[in-house]
Amino acid sequence: MPEIQVDTLETDVAIVGSGGAGLMCLLHLARHDPQLDVVVVSKGAVGRSGCTRMVQGGYNAVLDPLDSLDLHFNDTLIAGAYLNDQELAWALVEDAPSVIRELEQEYGCLFDRASGGRLHQKAFAGQSFDRTVHRADLTGIEIMSRLRDQTLRVAPRELEDVRALDLVFDADGELAGLTVLDIASGRFAVIVAKVVVIATGGSATMYRIAAPAREKTGDGIAMCLRAGLELRDMEMLQFHPTGLLVGDSTLTGAVLEEGLRGAGAHLLNGLGERFMERYDPLRLERSTRDVVARSSYLEIVAGRGTPVGGVLLDISHLGVDEVERRFGGMVARTRLFGRDLAREPIDVSPTAHFQMGGVIIDRDCRTSVDGLLVAGEDAGGTHGANRLGGNGVAESTVFGARAGDTTVEVAAARRRRTPDPQQVQESIARALAPLRRSGAVVAPDTIYRELKDVMWNGCGLVRSREGLEEAESAIDTMLERTQSVGTSGEAEWNVGWQQALDLVNQLQVARTMVTSALVREESRGAHFRDDFPERRDDEWLRYVVARLDGDEVRTDTRAVSFPRSQPPEALAV
Ligand SMILES: Cc1cc2nc3c(=O)[nH]c(=O)nc-3n(C[C@H](O)[C@H](O)[C@H](O)COP(=O)(O)OP(=O)(O)OC[C@H]3O[C@@H](n4cnc5c(N)ncnc54)[C@H](O)[C@@H]3O)c2cc1C
Repeated sequence: MPEIQVDTLETDVAIVGSGGAGLMCLLHLARHDPQLDVVVVSKGAVGRSGCTRMVQGGYNAVLDPLDSLDLHFNDTLIAGAYLNDQELAWALVEDAPSVIRELEQEYGCLFDRASGGRLHQKAFAGQSFDRTVHRADLTGIEIMSRLRDQTLRVAPRELEDVRALDLVFDADGELAGLTVLDIASGRFAVIVAKVVVIATGGSATMYRIAAPAREKTGDGIAMCLRAGLELRDMEMLQFHPTGLLVGDSTLTGAVLEEGLRGAGAHLLNGLGERFMERYDPLRLERSTRDVVARSSYLEIVAGRGTPVGGVLLDISHLGVDEVERRFGGMVARTRLFGRDLAREPIDVSPTAHFQMGGVIIDRDCRTSVDGLLVAGEDAGGTHGANRLGGNGVAESTVFGARAGDTTVEVAAARRRRTPDPQQVQESIARALAPLRRSGAVVAPDTIYRELKDVMWNGCGLVRSREGLEEAESAIDTMLERTQSVGTSGEAEWNVGWQQALDLVNQLQVARTMVTSALVREESRGAHFRDDFPERRDDEWLRYVVARLDGDEVRTDTRAVSFPRSQPPEALAV
């Protein structure tokens, strides 16, 4: 095959992704070493893509003297069913208060205030204290807008609408940089960098009903997987209980925020029953997401759903004025499709929301590969088996900041390496293949839709060996069929081509999720097996590790360590 022309770009640091983690990383490294040359690679608009901007409810941080780091830590471990990497969870809890202050006092975020002038902190499900800082019910727009303003001051080189493809190494196996594709022009480049930070925000879009930004297709996790890194907790995929159901509209899956349940919203089945009384009579709708989402799903599959296949979320009993005042963003969202949250119950369904699993990192976002850092939703371990609402944006900003601090040290200790030209050519040849294929090709969308159904049915809210094995074999077949995926048209702005590239990443990540879910023969947090419905602390205080070996996914399990807090006796079988 003739060699493909590739542009080369040299820099000190390449940050992949421009959500909360990517931009906090940039601001922190620039603060410590303004001389570092930085390239930000972003598949979507810088600062306006990804999910941090979509954050509605808010940000957990201990600010009230009556609250404590121990309480927040404990809530995080209980929600995570003690599968959490405790060092990561503690780093999150410990740094969140100072990062909130940084966001407010240094970057100018305006959060809501209570009458006495303190930051207002609202109730979120699964928490023992009201600690969720927010800007009404659209907190992410405030955070990302201010972070974006700050990046203009730092002025990195921004590669917008550019997708990262593969990590590349030098002849000695040392990290040398990454390959990228400019979506607008169809041109390829290799970025040679001392440090690469991956912050592409996970991959929870591979389900029939899903909430995250559509450009999040597991690219960063798949890149790490192909480079031989280990992932953990990939079976742990969080479903948010209250995704909208609006037929074929792209609003289907979009979330009605958790604060509604915190504020007293009821969930009703199609018979008008407040069904959480059956599943968690103590906490009812304020139970953790895993429990509420699964309960809704069980009502729906038991035939007690609404005519459109959901359940109802009702907060109208608070009164129109109160609901409009506190949840204006959510009310506006329902009015977009002719319904009114302030006045009537709204059809909702569990929606795939957040990936707890990801690349194994340490407290400083270092990975097993020197020079490679991972931050935000691409990393695994912080949340264990289930993430608390409000801990996601805290994770992206806390670990983004940590990644920025670490980058400065790592960049000082590393030199730029020369990427192995063969690896670069192979990466680009793989990416080009769907565009070059002609004849009887398979459209990527066909397989993509199939994958969403396979994951929803086989690796969704309720799992079994049989369903997971079917999903595994379906994904293997789909992976083979990607060899026949092709798209027509030119390289510039070719949506089908981009989807073909998304598809391979999603399938590779999906395969690790299904295989990990098969390994965990118990139920814990977001992972519920109806053939192993009990939580088994005697055997399963272990995390599942997945990696690629050729085309095969290999798994093993490792004991969770408890350096800071032992699981309570009562939880052990
Ligand atoms: C609807 C919704 C509401 C939420 N509400 C809350 C909430 O109230 N509280 C809370 O704590 N959490 C919430 N979350 C979760 C929270 O949004 C995430 O935990 C967090 O924002 C993830 O941040 P991140 O920086 O890791 O990734 P993101 O902010 O998602 O950013 C990912 C970035 O990677 C880029 N990217 C992707 N692939 C590539 C590629 N191949 N090459 C280059 N760039 C790439 C994207 O363009 C984007 O810039 C919510 C999530 C959703 C979907």
